Amino acid sequence: MQGPGRGDASPAQARKCGAAATRVDRRAAQDVLSVPAMIATEQGVPVGTPADSKRDAMPSRFVCLLYHDVYAGDASQYGRIGRSATRYHVSECRFRQHLDLVERSGVRPLGAGALSACLDAPAGAAGLPGVVFSFDDGWEGAVTRAAAALVERRIPLLMFVTTDYIGRRFFARPEQLRELEPTLVTVGSHGVSHHLLSGVSSDTVRRELRDSRHRLEDVLGRSVTWLSAPGGAVDRRLVEVAREVGYTMVFTSAIGINPTAAGRWGVARLGVTAATSSATLSRWLSLRLYPERLRNGVLALPKRVLGMRLYAKLRRVVLGEAVGYDHLFEP
Ligand SMILES: [Zn+2]
Repeated sequence: MQGPGRGDASPAQARKCGAAATRVDRRAAQDVLSVPAMIATEQGVPVGTPADSKRDAMPSRFVCLLYHDVYAGDASQYGRIGRSATRYHVSECRFRQHLDLVERSGVRPLGAGALSACLDAPAGAAGLPGVVFSFDDGWEGAVTRAAAALVERRIPLLMFVTTDYIGRRFFARPEQLRELEPTLVTVGSHGVSHHLLSGVSSDTVRRELRDSRHRLEDVLGRSVTWLSAPGGAVDRRLVEVAREVGYTMVFTSAIGINPTAAGRWGVARLGVTAATSSATLSRWLSLRLYPERLRNGVLALPKRVLGMRLYAKLRRVVLGEAVGYDHLFEP
């Protein structure tokens, strides 16, 4: 998509993101140039064979990246919001490196229309993979910095907002949400309170999904029909209620390549953290998710045995955040 060299971090940028990041990026740059070749091999086209027809086709598979906040300076500015939340935040410098990497990879960023078409397309179609950028919670840096960086490059994105957070410290204000470019940014709901919507009454689920949707529609003046489940907690009832109150797509935090077996009612996403290297991102763009699937399998047992709420509490104790921190994302 982008000519060579466009994505190389300038010396100033490299300094700002740190020497370690620059080292990783050099390796990733070599890695990412081979993404189309790797996909072609996977699809039975020998490496080195021109795969232009496949390259031009609409992607039949995509990975959806899940970001949270994108900050300008030092992450320590978050005060009492603990590392259990801020480990999912990335610096603007790092984020721009990710965009450079995606542009160099030839993997196509998908907007709302292309994403829907890909989910609805019959399986087995050709084409290189696509990538979707999504953001949860409605952090101010995501709504201002990240969205600006994407819109500047004409890359579409999805912004899922928790309506009780609108206007709070660190979160976007209504006018900032209204300023998002509607042709490139799809705003969806991420619940009213961010409470997990499993293990609560059906009325609570209905209220969270309906009220957050109405609030966002009031703020934006346009319809809101996509949902990202808080904490990624999606079960059959949540999907039923989501359909009943007018949603047409549900995003999870389940790791995977889309379309999943659940199609538009369970869009898988890959959570980007401060520790996500360019090499990892490059691997995701070539649809290789083995380490994440393995980690997910290892954590599935304690999560199931303890339940999501107790698991989250224990995790905070392990991170030293049981006392003296704001638990914004209390399940
Ligand atoms: Zn969230």
